[in-house]
Amino acid sequence: SHLKKYFDIKGGIFGKSVGEVKAVDDLSFSVNEGEILGIVGESGCGKSTAGKSILRLIEPTDGSVKFEGTDLTDLTSEEMRQLRKNMQIIFQDPYASLNPRHKVERIISEPLLIHGMKSSKERKERVKELLEIVGLEAYHASRYPHQFSGGQRQRIGIARALANNPKLIICDEPVSALDVSVQSQILNLMEELREKFKLTYVFIAHDLSVVKHISDRVGVMYLGRMVELTDKHTLFNDPKHPYTRALMSAVPIADPDIERERIILEGDVPSPSNPPTGCAFHTRCPYAMDICKEVRPEFENVDDKHLVACHLYN
Ligand code: SF4
Ligand code: MG
Repeated sequence: SHLKKYFDIKGGIFGKSVGEVKAVDDLSFSVNEGEILGIVGESGCGKSTAGKSILRLIEPTDGSVKFEGTDLTDLTSEEMRQLRKNMQIIFQDPYASLNPRHKVERIISEPLLIHGMKSSKERKERVKELLEIVGLEAYHASRYPHQFSGGQRQRIGIARALANNPKLIICDEPVSALDVSVQSQILNLMEELREKFKLTYVFIAHDLSVVKHISDRVGVMYLGRMVELTDKHTLFNDPKHPYTRALMSAVPIADPDIERERIILEGDVPSPSNPPTGCAFHTRCPYAMDICKEVRPEFENVDDKHLVACHLYN
């Protein structure tokens, strides 16, 4: 709720603060238990920073994050460490997130050890079980990350995330670095695991087709903020926010008979160190009105399950 993460920009020889980057700027949404909430946006829109801030892997500047009623931003780091068992993250680049000097055995054991599984025999058993769950054979435990393909490495990343039976997994572009043929295998695995272990995912991606495949609801981010959020079907068939409509109009449709609105966006995404006033999208929006430059639109319901931040609707 109203989550913010601002980074100081240090400059000059004294490293003094010369400004700030508003990577996440007033982000609000909720995730229902058992659902897959997709979050899309162009690179630099603050999706990854949001994911890390939610888990307090980086400290949010302002706002709150509630998990089953507990405000995470009120917890001490020790309390947070305990609770983090329930909340895991899977990263985009499985290679960078796996220590190349450690065998898979140790990589997957680590979270078990941290959360109190003292017996090494128990840990070994659990690692075997986890490898099986993600579709890898037990002998892989004694191999190193470089001995695996990209898809296999992401399976290892998933096994590690599952080690302590989490409830929520933040998936930060988990298939973006993979070949298209491997992407769907990993997405299917993730869907199976969601069913099997009653998981909840926040699934961050820049690729609309990936989000369309896996999500129940989808949120669209622009410059650190969510601008639209609704169920997948509605978002893809009846997008409201001009930015969402521009994203959708860039997706090719297979059927040449279908006519569709085309919104071509002019210019680049403005810098988050100097975001536009009012609606952050007004510099590129073909529908911008005077009010858009002055007043930031609230993120409000246009109907009971569709939120939009745009003066055209509110
Ligand atoms: Fe465009 Fe104004 Fe809506 Fe922003 S608030 S998206 S500038 S119409
Ligand atoms: Mg990212």
